[in-house]
Amino acid sequence: MISENITQIQTNIKTACQKCKRTFTDVTLISVSKTKPVSMLMEAYNAGSRDFGENKVQELIEKYDIMPKDIRWHMIGHLQRNKVKYIVDKVFLIHSVDSLKLAEEISKEALKKNVCVSILIEVNISGEDSKFGIKPEDTEQFIRSISVLPGIKIKGLMTIAPYVENPEDNRQYFAQLKQLSVDINHKNIDNVSMNVLSMGMTGDYEVAIEEGATYVRIGTGIFGERQYL
Ligand SMILES: *Cc1c(COP(=O)(O)O)cnc(C)c1O
Repeated sequence: MISENITQIQTNIKTACQKCKRTFTDVTLISVSKTKPVSMLMEAYNAGSRDFGENKVQELIEKYDIMPKDIRWHMIGHLQRNKVKYIVDKVFLIHSVDSLKLAEEISKEALKKNVCVSILIEVNISGEDSKFGIKPEDTEQFIRSISVLPGIKIKGLMTIAPYVENPEDNRQYFAQLKQLSVDINHKNIDNVSMNVLSMGMTGDYEVAIEEGATYVRIGTGIFGERQYL
């Protein structure tokens, strides 16, 4: 089932890329495996998935220890400062940097472990109160202020779009995040690249790709509904 789901989603990603004349290999599917057992992650791994997304530090490090070592782990959930030290040398990319204090902590722990951590800035593009993330209008200044920190590399932007029935309703937000990344890229800030756009989930990833997503984060579409205990 998981393997069929991944095959179908990869086909849909290809179709979405063709539709907007993008290269298929520019879009990476992240299997969002939060709450799911390692046996299911292994099914996704055996179907070819090498990018996994988790939103809790404890769960990420447990799975990191058990799963094969060629996996790229993505921290996609809200990250507490006191937990940064457990993951800086394990994650491929932190998608959810949304405060100066958090960025400073990542920088500090990265230096301790002698690694360079790739990060994305989480932007609250829809302005929903319930969402984490930097306001679009504050994003450039925020990036300038953390770009000088050692041990971190800013690679781009991430957003969590609202939950909607019709994915077209989120197109505006994906387009706005893309435009923001283009605008910031034009500023040529040292130590900052804007090549990565993490946006799109099970319900709206095709629209996100049409608007420029380079990572889509898909949980339910691969592993089925989540049960929270
Ligand atoms: C859970 C989660 C996803 C995946 O959501 P689905 O709708 O199950 O595909 C994507 N991004 C983030 C940040 C998440 O927490």
